[in-house]
Amino acid sequence: MPRATKPKTVSKKRISPAGRTARQLPGTPEPNRLLKVWRRVIERRLRSRLRSRVAVEIHDNTHTMITFQRSRGLWRLRLHHMFLAAPDDVIQALADFVRTADPVSSAVLDRYIERNKVFIRRVSPAQLRKRLRLEPVGRHHDLSRIFERLNDRYFQSRISAAITYGPAPRVKGPRKSIKMGSYSMESRVIRIHPALDQPVVPRYFVEWIVFHEMLHNVYRVRRGDDGRRCVHPPEFMEHERRFHDLRRAQAWEDENLDLLLRSRPV
Ligand SMILES: [Zn+2]
Repeated sequence: MPRATKPKTVSKKRISPAGRTARQLPGTPEPNRLLKVWRRVIERRLRSRLRSRVAVEIHDNTHTMITFQRSRGLWRLRLHHMFLAAPDDVIQALADFVRTADPVSSAVLDRYIERNKVFIRRVSPAQLRKRLRLEPVGRHHDLSRIFERLNDRYFQSRISAAITYGPAPRVKGPRKSIKMGSYSMESRVIRIHPALDQPVVPRYFVEWIVFHEMLHNVYRVRRGDDGRRCVHPPEFMEHERRFHDLRRAQAWEDENLDLLLRSRPV
């Protein structure tokens, strides 16, 4: 019977006992010690460029690659491990960016991150979504229904994303602005501000906000010619004009923004 013979690859994949003991031999550098050495190296490279004390922490985050702050003459940087082996121009850009946040160095860093994204640990959108509690059904507007209909009407049902009402950020006093919706590229989750879940907010307005966030799933953020991040490129804006109730929705927003700013979602 053909099943009696195991495929050759199975035995090949097994780790031999010899291999296992070899890894435990004393004198083999532990990964942590190597990391320390590399961290010192990058600290030194940054210190000479920043002319200041530098403390670097290395992480394996999936989202934010660089964070930094300065306190009492010390630069603290948290960097993804892809930066450990970065070439000089990237380290220079890192130092410039930390000091001045200029668009040129920011673009150099973005390109480096883009080229090295294979080193970013992959967390599936499904895993990320599992950590969130999705609440798409409001008292007045059912976001999943709105999403499904728009997906069917405008996108041949090709948009794969989850949708939910987001938590209302707590603000004291009257709001000065309101973020009606957002889209997370990593988790593919659209969040809609709960202030939109009111009977006075017309369905077409909620639809427009959802439609806008769905377009973020279609058009990636890119750099404009001036090096700045372009969240709504011209083709995005062009596509948005296809929304059937755009004028009406924009007019409603103009007239009722105050109402949304004042609302206190429960
Ligand atoms: Zn947008």
